[in-house]
Amino acid sequence: MLRKVVRYLNNPILERPADPVTEFDTPELHTLVEDMFETMYTSHGIGLAGPQIDIDKRITVIDIAPAEDEENAAPQKIVLINPEIIAKEGKQTGEEGCLSIPGFREPVSRAKFCTVRAQDVKGEWFEIAGEDLLARVFQHEIDHLNGILFINHLSALKRDLIKRKIRKLQKAGEWE
Ligand SMILES: [Zn+2]
Repeated sequence: MLRKVVRYLNNPILERPADPVTEFDTPELHTLVEDMFETMYTSHGIGLAGPQIDIDKRITVIDIAPAEDEENAAPQKIVLINPEIIAKEGKQTGEEGCLSIPGFREPVSRAKFCTVRAQDVKGEWFEIAGEDLLARVFQHEIDHLNGILFINHLSALKRDLIKRKIRKLQKAGEWE
């Protein structure tokens, strides 16, 4: 089932830390993961975090295959539950956007490599390493679970400008 993506400034859930997932392998959790992938693919995103669909849980789904150059890339579905970044290295700067802040893209500096420890839908712990785009998505999505958006990595000036533009869109009824 498609879920509605919450937009920045419309719902404070995006700006507070989410709660850990404590029950695993339940029908609800499997349905949530399916819904999150469906919503993410339909929105042409490469990552989606629980709070973005108004779910106060530390869960994120990722698939960067659609962003890769190869045509018809096979899906590379990644589900991270209660994820933590356990190692970071290097630096990359690149344009970033967010399904909760559509229409705005800005350069953001992130670690080039990052290793994540997380649980799967069954509650099993695993580690996964990423570099470049995948490392960027890991950092962006785990930020979401801590109530942090990519615009929090920008200068206060840039962030305020984006906020002002969004408030105008809200007033015009174009930010639902
Ligand atoms: Zn985002």
